[in-house]
Amino acid sequence: MKRRPKLGKADKALIAAASSVIKRRYRDDWQEVGAALRTRSGKIFTGVNLDAYLGRMAVCAEAVALGRAVVDLGDAGIDMIVAVRHPPPDAKDQAIAVVSPCGACRELIFDYDPTARVIVPNGSSPAVVPIGELLPNKYTRGSER
Ligand SMILES: [Zn+2]
Repeated sequence: MKRRPKLGKADKALIAAASSVIKRRYRDDWQEVGAALRTRSGKIFTGVNLDAYLGRMAVCAEAVALGRAVVDLGDAGIDMIVAVRHPPPDAKDQAIAVVSPCGACRELIFDYDPTARVIVPNGSSPAVVPIGELLPNKYTRGSER
C-alpha cells in the first residue's frame, strides 16, 4: 500500500468542521453526510447532503459546500475536501466517520480543481489523496485531453 502523508492540524480541523455541521443538522433519512472544504485562500465552507423524496434530486454534501464557496468567493479552488457520515439513531456503537466521495463528487471536485486533495478513510487513521488518484481515466468529451 502506498505511503500517505499524515493528517496535519488543518486537516483535522477540516474533519472537525464536517463533523460539527452534520452533528448540528443531522436528520434521519434527510441529512446524514457533512462535508467541509478548504479553498486555496484558506477559507472553510461546510455543507450537508440534501436527500429528496425523488431520489435523483438528492444533492451530496460536497456539492453543497462547493456551492457555498462559489457563491461567496467565485472560483477559489479546492485545497482539501472531506465528507463524514453520521450513524443512524439506532447505531449507538458507531461514530461519525470519514467517507470517500461518490463517483459524481469525484468528477465535480476534479472539475473545480484538478489538484484538489481529498481526505479518505484509511483503516484507523484517514489519509490524504490527490483527486486525480481517485478518478483515473476521467470522463472527457473525446476531443479533449
Ligand atoms: Zn457525492
